[in-house]
Amino acid sequence: MNVLVINCGSSSLKYQVINSDTEEVLAKGLCERIGIDGRLVYQPNGGEKEITDAAMPTHTEAVRMVLDALVNPKTGVLKSLNEIDAVGHRIVHGGEAFAETTLIDEKVIAAVEECTDLAPLHNPANLIGVRACQEVLPGVPMVGVFDTAFHQTMPKEAYLYGIPYEYYEKYKVRKYGFHGTSHSYVSKKAAEILGKPYDSLKTIVCHLGNGASVCAVDKGRSVDTSMGLSPLEGLVMGTRSGDIDPSAMEFIAKKENLDMAGILNVLNKESGVYGLSGVSSDFRDLEKAAFSGNDRAMTARKVFVHSVLKYIGGYAASMNGVDVICFTAGLGENDGLIRQMICDNLEYLGIHIDGEANKVRGEEKIISTPDSKVTVMVVPTNEELAICRETVEIIRKK
Ligand code: ADP
Repeated sequence: MNVLVINCGSSSLKYQVINSDTEEVLAKGLCERIGIDGRLVYQPNGGEKEITDAAMPTHTEAVRMVLDALVNPKTGVLKSLNEIDAVGHRIVHGGEAFAETTLIDEKVIAAVEECTDLAPLHNPANLIGVRACQEVLPGVPMVGVFDTAFHQTMPKEAYLYGIPYEYYEKYKVRKYGFHGTSHSYVSKKAAEILGKPYDSLKTIVCHLGNGASVCAVDKGRSVDTSMGLSPLEGLVMGTRSGDIDPSAMEFIAKKENLDMAGILNVLNKESGVYGLSGVSSDFRDLEKAAFSGNDRAMTARKVFVHSVLKYIGGYAASMNGVDVICFTAGLGENDGLIRQMICDNLEYLGIHIDGEANKVRGEEKIISTPDSKVTVMVVPTNEELAICRETVEIIRKK
């Protein structure tokens, strides 16, 4: 089965075509600057990357261009569009309505629209992608894979905020969590690599990218995660503040003469390690600056590590133990120094890191020593493959 995996943003659209039998990526790329001018990046497996500038007034033209590239007689990877058996869409917020991957129909679209309040930037863009694909690929089944779904197993004590209960009842204000597809994929993969039953392990997954979150997975179920109602809560991230005393927002708003939207803009886009360092949101730039004597860059790295440590410690406590800790995403997979800095403070859990193994970048590897009480691993995430697998599962059940 060939699955077109779509991750649609407001002005961009990332795609992959995956053969689900071999799990080979036949082609991948993205459309950028949709609604502005338009650029298609297309790369067939084993081939050169092609970049084409072309008008993309809406996502429909973008999807059309992707499909044209896929069936292009010279560089395409499909003979015809009939070879696309299903489309798997990443959808950011499924609210409480979606605890599982779902076949998309009009009812599902309406339910996702109802969650728009909770993800005003993401959900409308995701749905535009769905509509564009429906228009261009009529009759091809579409499946929605939700970032929040994996976390719907969290118990009430983990997802409720300590605010009047009516706000949960009336407005569904609660912790939802994100990166669910990644946390689920990585925790499952770790069990597979270790040859242990998924439902026998207590795992903590650290998804450390530009957006970052930690998840506690107990016996294959998400029981807590660091992101909340929105992806702003939790760890200090590239440009997001993570946890902050809400009173600080009122204080800053008054001093800087900002309204709530202005404050949220600062917390989402101008904070995190970028705001702390004044250098960059990218940890590679921070490392360079820190080791050239930039104190603020060094401090930003330490603040980040401290925030990860607090969540790992918190989840080891709330699960009453931990068997496996996984590092994933851009930073988690590639930055051995940050991993070392985190694990240096986990000796109390009996964790010991093998310095040589920890040099790994972007590969599955156990980085703890054999006598470490907790197994620490690098497990590269693959959200597209996870979306492809879930899509196929739903189609086969149909
Ligand atoms: P997102 O998908 O949230 O945009 P990624 O998972 O791609 O983020 O991670 C991006 C971050 O990963 C970068 O900001 C950078 O800090 C870090 N990163 C990526 N590659 C490396 C590397 N080779 N060494 C250190 N850090 C890296």
